[in-house]
Amino acid sequence: MSPDETDVRCLDSIWINGLDTRPFLKSAGRVRCGSHHARRKDLSLTPRTPAEEPSPARREPPRRLPSRAPDADPPADDLTRVLGQVLDGGRPSGVLGPVRVRSVATEVADRLMTAIAIGDYLPGQRLPGERELAALLDVSRATIREAIGRLQAVGIVEIRRGRTGGAYVRTSWTEATAAAVRRTLVPRWPELEQLFDLRGLVEGMAARTAALRRTDADLEAMRAALDAYAGASILREEQEADAAFHTAVVTAAGNPQINTLSRDLLMRVSLGFPTEPYGDDDPETYQQALNEHRALYEAISAKDAERAGSIAERHFTLTADVIRAMLERGLNASRDS
Ligand SMILES: [Zn+2]
Repeated sequence: MSPDETDVRCLDSIWINGLDTRPFLKSAGRVRCGSHHARRKDLSLTPRTPAEEPSPARREPPRRLPSRAPDADPPADDLTRVLGQVLDGGRPSGVLGPVRVRSVATEVADRLMTAIAIGDYLPGQRLPGERELAALLDVSRATIREAIGRLQAVGIVEIRRGRTGGAYVRTSWTEATAAAVRRTLVPRWPELEQLFDLRGLVEGMAARTAALRRTDADLEAMRAALDAYAGASILREEQEADAAFHTAVVTAAGNPQINTLSRDLLMRVSLGFPTEPYGDDDPETYQQALNEHRALYEAISAKDAERAGSIAERHFTLTADVIRAMLERGLNASRDS
């Protein structure tokens, strides 16, 4: 085992279908345990001692899934280079790109199930309409209809008729979800890690710029969203107020191109959907986000650009943690299925 490889201790099995899953679970020196509510617990990553080496039967050389970024270097603190890697001359990324492998409806159903698992759409919420989903994923409405039918068949959505009719999320996770999450997230994981990194850099830059350029009206918009977030009683209200707050911050930077970039990155990490992955209801995460929102507001209000930038950069790791926790849940479930 090379010195840079580490043991992910919260997974008893790191081998899925002969693939070493460790490359997907390492990030910034920490991993989250498979249990969602334990996800805040940092686990130490220590190199294996010889006594802990896997048995000879498991010591085939690790194979890695191909990354979509050819010959990509590890992301560095270099905004230009990371932008170049991920935006790739404007070509559609694997995350947002057209869905054209296997049965298209199967791929779309997997993507929707994963989007629901990571909390793009929450229980009780109506999915966007057929036409909008078809446009977002660049597939036909017939394909969307077929995919939604699959979600209905496994109990993830229910179809309601009438004026407010549509596909409503019943639950964010069923027995069918783990396999869909693995098929969706594992091949995209190298790209997603780059996107998490890039998003932190971009949101940090936006917050820094906001601190330098904000007007009193910008502060008012942030304050209103902050109050709405503090007063939210359900996850859906938190998600809406959170989006309003971050929109107000980015808008305060005074350059619509930054808004466009921020929204593009949101959609990429959300698997093509325009909403922030919100995971399960977790009071601890809410409290942390609330504290960070307040601190970010104070820093922007005080025109403290460096402080605002570093708070925003750290804040957006919450989303990466949500998605990482869902991948781990999907990988852990494979041991039982
Ligand atoms: Zn937030």
